Amino acid sequence: MLHLNQATPAQLREWEEALHNQYQAVAKAGLNLDLTRGKPNGEQLALSDALDGILAGKYIDRDGTDLRNYGGLDGIPEAKELFAPIAGVKPEEVMIGGNSSLTLMYFAAQAALLHGVSDSSSAWQNEGRTIKFLAPVPGYDRHFTVCQHLGIELIPVAMDENGPDMDQVEQLLQADSAIKGMWCVPRFSNPSGIVYSDAVVKRIANLGNIAGDNFRVFWDNAYAVHTLNPDAPMLANIMDYCREAGTADSVLIFGSTSKITFAGAGVAFIAGSVANLEVLKKHFSFSSIGPDKINQLRHVAFLKNQETISEHMAKHAAIMKPRFDAVLNLLKSELGDAGMGTWNEPEGGYFISFDALPGLAKKIVELAAAVGVKLTPAGATFPYGKDPQDCNIRLSPTYPSVEDVKKTAEVFVLCVKLASVRQALEQA
Ligand code: PLP
Repeated sequence: MLHLNQATPAQLREWEEALHNQYQAVAKAGLNLDLTRGKPNGEQLALSDALDGILAGKYIDRDGTDLRNYGGLDGIPEAKELFAPIAGVKPEEVMIGGNSSLTLMYFAAQAALLHGVSDSSSAWQNEGRTIKFLAPVPGYDRHFTVCQHLGIELIPVAMDENGPDMDQVEQLLQADSAIKGMWCVPRFSNPSGIVYSDAVVKRIANLGNIAGDNFRVFWDNAYAVHTLNPDAPMLANIMDYCREAGTADSVLIFGSTSKITFAGAGVAFIAGSVANLEVLKKHFSFSSIGPDKINQLRHVAFLKNQETISEHMAKHAAIMKPRFDAVLNLLKSELGDAGMGTWNEPEGGYFISFDALPGLAKKIVELAAAVGVKLTPAGATFPYGKDPQDCNIRLSPTYPSVEDVKKTAEVFVLCVKLASVRQALEQA
């Protein structure tokens, strides 16, 4: 395959013409494909169909509580026990919420802003200035919009294959006491797929010592058990490092079964020090008389223990792997030596992150849209939708059929080539 940088202007012109013809042919095919949604597909959802009816009328938990009634604000003990190892904490350090971890993140940020992370004197809004969060990029757009909706400013931080650039993080925290939080998706990051290294986790655990008592890491371990390969890298236990560093209150851990059982009808949890949970529970008590405990018990009955969760996740992986492979194989064969972009090969999670040549992400997404292929909007992985290099594109291959993923990836590759060759021609 010709490398972009080695092509002569004449070769580039010839290449562009051939790609343009291919693109015209695709345009005529009238495609209607979508690679934007990081959702489980129907086959994955069906893996958990046994949830329905699993309790067979047994609505009493092991403490004798009737789960059909109000109460149990912080969740049933069986659910705390089930999710504690996933969060890497003790059962008493888990609070079970409703169906969405994002709701819990929003709630925790809002409570800290209005009412404080401990007593009311710690309310971020008391400071009378704009509160800021660090946002490792590329990242998850809904984290960014939580902050934007609450008037919290986002400061992008670079990431490499080990996680956020911790020199930059520490310098920013030392320089600006208005920074009160940091978003992290530590295992199979959305979208870069990386797993934070032990050294990075250790440094993050120490941030409370730099940023002060009112700082919180929002540790969104959404893909904690979502491996594509059985030997995918593990994540260090942040709570263990926090205990060593004396910063157990500095981290709030989030997770859910949205991509284990049913997205939107699963169980979410927040984990952290008992002191943090007491504060959050107090605030929760004003907004709820109790979560859906029946769904919690259904999940306990269905997921059972860590071993059965691993077996269940292996079934998810078997369904997802061919979709990821379809994209990755094509990227490798078509763009491997072309000098037109780089990408990750995730070992878990829901995304492939593609970095096009600077200035081309928007163009590529536009070219694909014009022939009926929807990609995640360029810029979505950066705060305020502003990718300074205009290069990152998030690919989500989980939802469509393998056939559709293949077709979509072919169009994507074609658009990357066309945009890259045209840019090279302009610069020749
Ligand atoms: N966190 C991350 C990193 C995600 O990618 C997603 C969904 O895509 C969520 C949270 C949403 O989780 P939930 O369904 O528990 O609100």
